[in-house]
Amino acid sequence: MHELSIAQSLLDIVLEESERHRLKKICLIRLQVGEMAAVVPEALNFCFETLSESTVAKGAALEIETLPVVARCSECRLSFQVENQSFLCPECGYPALEMVSGRELSIVSIEGETGDRDDSDQCSSGSQHPSSE
Ligand SMILES: [Zn+2]
Repeated sequence: MHELSIAQSLLDIVLEESERHRLKKICLIRLQVGEMAAVVPEALNFCFETLSESTVAKGAALEIETLPVVARCSECRLSFQVENQSFLCPECGYPALEMVSGRELSIVSIEGETGDRDDSDQCSSGSQHPSSE
């Protein structure tokens, strides 16, 4: 199952980040997933839930944003959004051989609680992606 390995590497990154930011609990993880990554959000959610059961990410919500596939025509260099799996250039009809985006899977932000202060129910105060410290 494809989503299981994704969920595992996702959890690894999330746990690493939570350690760096001393998060006691992860509330929300925002992801961007390209359409070509062929990820089923429900399956990813389920796998992540199962894997994170005994970690600080337990109960964290996954917010998955799907990104459209963008290809670039090899003939006229036009970048266009691929719809219905059609990689034909809308300008000249040539098949686009280069994919600009659509396969990525990236973490946009991780939100959680540090538990340092008495703001334990303030789930939105978490850190955006790592700034240099
Ligand atoms: Zn073209």
